[in-house]
Amino acid sequence: MKRNFRFYIALWGAKIGTKLLKLLKRNASFFPGKFALSICPDFMGMIEKPKTIIAVTGTNGKTTVCNMIEDVLADNGYDFIDNKIGSNVNSGIATALISGANFKGKAKKNMAVLEIDERSAPKVYPYVTPTYLVCTNLFRDSMLRNAHAEFIANILTNNIPKETKLILNGDDLISSGIAPENERQYFGISRLDTDLEECNNIVRDIVVCPKCNGKLEYDYVRYNHIGRAHCVNCDFGSPKIDFEITKIDFENKKMVMQTQEGEEEYNLITDGIINIYNMVATISALKQLGLTAQQINNSLKKQKIVETRYSEEVVNGIRIVNHLAKGMNPIACSRVFDYIRKDKGNKAVILLLDDLHDEMSSSENITWHYDTDFEFLNDDSIKQIIAPGPRHLDTFVRLQMAEILPDKIVHIKDKMDGAEKLDLSSIDTVYILYDVYTIKLCNMVKERVIKMIKEKEEEKHEN
Ligand SMILES: [Zn+2]
Repeated sequence: MKRNFRFYIALWGAKIGTKLLKLLKRNASFFPGKFALSICPDFMGMIEKPKTIIAVTGTNGKTTVCNMIEDVLADNGYDFIDNKIGSNVNSGIATALISGANFKGKAKKNMAVLEIDERSAPKVYPYVTPTYLVCTNLFRDSMLRNAHAEFIANILTNNIPKETKLILNGDDLISSGIAPENERQYFGISRLDTDLEECNNIVRDIVVCPKCNGKLEYDYVRYNHIGRAHCVNCDFGSPKIDFEITKIDFENKKMVMQTQEGEEEYNLITDGIINIYNMVATISALKQLGLTAQQINNSLKKQKIVETRYSEEVVNGIRIVNHLAKGMNPIACSRVFDYIRKDKGNKAVILLLDDLHDEMSSSENITWHYDTDFEFLNDDSIKQIIAPGPRHLDTFVRLQMAEILPDKIVHIKDKMDGAEKLDLSSIDTVYILYDVYTIKLCNMVKERVIKMIKEKEEEKHEN
């Protein structure tokens, strides 16, 4: 795209402005891209981009996958730009490109790793052509932001550049079908002992064949619409997988990937199926860039799934786990609920998923409650569920509809007071589930839980 005077004003203004903000010790992570796009809407088309761009999109897991790709690349000496600081919408991507370019608008590095919000596709792909685009999956998400999974799939199909090579989840019949004309490779996980014949989730975002509206028959279901299926009328079905996990050994923490070159062994750095998918997506992308299985595995095994998503601490023998669950995102919540019920020992769960909070004053309705498998919390090992926050009555109703006994449930309006109601007798693990908007609250609640455990221990000693 031909540059004009506005481009240079936008670029220099963004660069000088960022320097000034930094001198004033002000947060400059959002400014450059926003400023540049306001001066020059075509800015991203005019700035020179790194030669190789790895982009990651999808409903769930894109941040984790981006982080893992970046960590492995950095560990192997690659130099690249990313949009880790800032955002995954067009202004965040513009910010990354500005920081990666000099005053003439020339790219300083050869590679970029970009997380791109699915809904931002029409604002990003006309200007940025990813060399590779990983799509982790597509599910229903916050209705307010994303409407429906098919709507998002359509946005992607209509906007992804034809030259982009896709790396897709072959176990997901929605995202595996995006941009059908593009060159593509699929990753997946073959049948597991825990797979089901029938879907036990409330929602499944694809139930009929998108080609002929025929019946979709599932060979097996992993969760929601993840699994392998085929249409009973036409040739539509799960694709042939190029990077397939054929064996997972949870005990010895190993997994085997079958590729065209043969079998490769990787260390398992997580025991949750969601993060195994994130690992497989990461490995598939890195292999496209020419990294060997050994290089990838040596770097991956040093990693931990990012702290802000999952962290645990043991205080006087009680585990306290902070786990991101993403309120308003029924699949993300259901996966975490399933993980908790299958975890060992007795648990108490504090739900900080209320969608009415200071950071986001607007709110959507509570339909996501009814798309989420709260039924998974109805388990003998879950002894107490605490739902604090302005929506506590809505959550209380939903938990009772899941036939959870009312005496197991504490619901209370004040967000902080929930922790006080925790009954620690016979509890091995306290799960605190939070949303991206409630990280601060989660840490405050965790501190209060730790204080309570310590006080209880002191009381024991005094008696
Ligand atoms: Zn069909």
